Amino acid sequence: MAEHERDTRLDGNAAAGLLSTVFRCEPSEVMLICAGCGADGPMGALLAYGMEMGAVLRCPVCDTAVLRAGSAGAMLWLDVRGAVSMRVTIEH
Ligand SMILES: [Zn+2]
Repeated sequence: MAEHERDTRLDGNAAAGLLSTVFRCEPSEVMLICAGCGADGPMGALLAYGMEMGAVLRCPVCDTAVLRAGSAGAMLWLDVRGAVSMRVTIEH
């Protein structure tokens, strides 16, 4: 590891404040870019398919599973590998 990496690298807790903004917003307004085709739109415009313990949200253009969410007992999980990025508007 280079010396400058030791100086700038922190653990994930350092990003908790920033990420709390993402996870506090209205989910249907989160903007996602589909990893399958590049379509850009709000989470609310994705097509939702129910599962026994959660949901799969698919791109209305190419049918890629953009986001999967589920719950098991006291755990919630989110799989966003079908999204290139997520973005939210920060209200000041
Ligand atoms: Zn797509």
